[in-house]
Amino acid sequence: MVEVRDPLVEARRQLRRAIDLLGHPDYVYEVLAEPERVIQVKVPVRMDDGSVKVFMGWRSQHNSALGPYKGGVRYHPSVTMNEVIALSMWMTWKNSLAGLPYGGGKGGVRVNPKVLTPRQLEELSRRYFEAISDFVGIDQDIPAPDVYTDPQVMAWYFDEYSRIKRGYYTGVVTGKPPELGGLQARVVATGYGVAVAVREAAKKLLGGIEGKTVAVQGFGNVGYYTAKYLSEMGARVVAVSDSRGGIYSSKGLDPDEVLSVKRREGSVIHYPGAEKKMSPMDVLELDVDVLVPAAIEGVITEENAPRIKAKLVAEGANGPTTTEAEKILTERGVVVLPDILVNAGGVIMSHIEWVNNRMGGWITDEEALKKLEYKMTDNVSRVLGYWQKKLDTSKHPLRDAAYMIAVDRVVKAMKLRGLL
Ligand code: GLU
Repeated sequence: MVEVRDPLVEARRQLRRAIDLLGHPDYVYEVLAEPERVIQVKVPVRMDDGSVKVFMGWRSQHNSALGPYKGGVRYHPSVTMNEVIALSMWMTWKNSLAGLPYGGGKGGVRVNPKVLTPRQLEELSRRYFEAISDFVGIDQDIPAPDVYTDPQVMAWYFDEYSRIKRGYYTGVVTGKPPELGGLQARVVATGYGVAVAVREAAKKLLGGIEGKTVAVQGFGNVGYYTAKYLSEMGARVVAVSDSRGGIYSSKGLDPDEVLSVKRREGSVIHYPGAEKKMSPMDVLELDVDVLVPAAIEGVITEENAPRIKAKLVAEGANGPTTTEAEKILTERGVVVLPDILVNAGGVIMSHIEWVNNRMGGWITDEEALKKLEYKMTDNVSRVLGYWQKKLDTSKHPLRDAAYMIAVDRVVKAMKLRGLL
């Protein structure tokens, strides 16, 4: 039976656990369990036959104690208000944990962008941003790309906002094309960040990344760049998969060659050098040192967790491990590097872009990646240090340490401001 999960229930459960571990009173949970504001908008788009179709959109602004709300906007047919609220709460923790001067926000439009023409997609994007334009801004709320939104969509957002406000406001969105103040490095940032986090954790937990075997589930932007950079760091990527299937080679795969096959023939499964083919779910159970679920949420469950053989699991995707599965993995000594820690590379790069826009400056991709590497290295060592010093690591997943640090920073900021 497929269990329908309300992501907001999951997000609140995680918050509850962090509040209890930190020993904060109940009302702190109550305050943080609700977003500060949720904007619901109607997004009308004229279709090619002259009719008008309405799509529903949201922007959830969860918390602004540490800075303006920050987080992406997703276009997906299954987007719900609760999902957007949950994702905005996760952005609060992700930004707090990364030490960024940002609160948490997230947006979404319930639409399948693949069936829209480019003109309709532009109209949808402009109307959505127009509808939320009074609530976003360089110092209020800074959207960015997420599922099925890209630099072109950000360019339309920026243009729409700049027209309404009659100025040139590049800092109102991040993940823009380079011509409009974006950074090329934003494209590789999440995958590069995952690779750096894995390398740093491997140094402390596995005696280094060189020669370690890696399986990556999902070969989109995050999966591909994670595989690419981990290979460059000396790891052996023995398996990758996409939604059509997985491939395995004990000698190791070249991510660039696999990508060109996927681009040409539609899937990694057509790669000729593979020793074995398998299902995307089988990739999770391979006998490897490091497993990177970088596809969708909820793939590691209590059902398959007992069969996971990796020593380190790095959550490239948001929420790939269920709470029950994580409990089993922790008991078995498998360390899960949580999403809010390892996939923060995107928003860290967004911050670099935003700072650069605000200064009216310029920064090279090389410098930007160096900054990201520094920040990610520091974040991993802070979370591992806290976990090993303050918690019983045989009972507490690393996520507990990440949440405790993230939630505590927000609580402290709220107390200082007199909000708690
Ligand atoms: N959508 C990305 C995330 O979930 C990045 C958000 C941003 O750059 O603001 O972390």
